[in-house]
Amino acid sequence: MSIAYLPEIYPDELIYSWVSRFYCHNGYLNSKDALKDILRSNGRLTFEFSGQFNTEIGALLNKFLGDCRTFYLDHTLFTYYTRFYDNQSRLGWLNGIATGRRAAVFQNLLELDKSYRYLQYCPLCTIDDRYHRGETYYHREHQIPGVVCCVRHKCFLKQTNIRIHQKKEVDLVPAEQIIPVDEIAVPTNGLALEYSRYLVDVLNAPLTADYVPVGKFLRDRIDAKFFRPSERSIDLMAISEEMLNLLKSIGITSLPYYYLGYVIKGYSHDPRVIIMLGYYLNIPVEELCNPPPTGSSAELYLETERDEYL
Ligand SMILES: [Zn+2]
Repeated sequence: MSIAYLPEIYPDELIYSWVSRFYCHNGYLNSKDALKDILRSNGRLTFEFSGQFNTEIGALLNKFLGDCRTFYLDHTLFTYYTRFYDNQSRLGWLNGIATGRRAAVFQNLLELDKSYRYLQYCPLCTIDDRYHRGETYYHREHQIPGVVCCVRHKCFLKQTNIRIHQKKEVDLVPAEQIIPVDEIAVPTNGLALEYSRYLVDVLNAPLTADYVPVGKFLRDRIDAKFFRPSERSIDLMAISEEMLNLLKSIGITSLPYYYLGYVIKGYSHDPRVIIMLGYYLNIPVEELCNPPPTGSSAELYLETERDEYL
């Protein structure tokens, strides 16, 4: 079938949301039929990234957008998940998404996140969207793992019952159909808002071509009280406890300490841990996203015993 109507994508809208509105506005009876018309055969659509679109959709995107890579950068969580990788890897993944070879990236990283997450929305953004556009949609900034507030309206986000998962085939549920009309917005401030703003700023920071390993940079910022020179080690467990003490009031209650070791040693580029550590260490977002090169000043190593767990 040829595409009857491809809706305009809204600012900060997830591609999943855009496809859901396409399904709704074209009068399909079930989402499988809509997906069949826009995805390549056996192609997938994911919540946080993109769809493996067929050539007809690909041609339309190219026609209207020129370089459609910006489309994927602005409407997926790509900048969040790839933030701390080198530029060459990022470009490879981005091209993979833009050409429909991949629907998601970092399956291994995504699978680390075993927590149940649901698509979220802000009651006040919903009112704004309905007033200005006649319908609401799923905003990308509201879906960053760990974000709990709308930084624009300074209120808590609410959850839909749409679970974000990566493996199962997605069902198309337009935001307009499930977000209630009269939702009460609960104002927020303090840590919850500050941490959400930190996450959103990381998502929106420009990607830089220069690559400085963030793990080493973070290690050099760790307070000297955690270094144990006699054992040539860093007390990761104590850092982890202090971080969780800071963040537990916003619902972050677990962080295996060895994850910190993976990050500090440069084995992991997991944004959840890196951003948490950056926030805890009071590192400005611009610096975390573009660390200054550091010398090998601290000749300190993680203790051998813990290396077995790293
Ligand atoms: Zn809002």
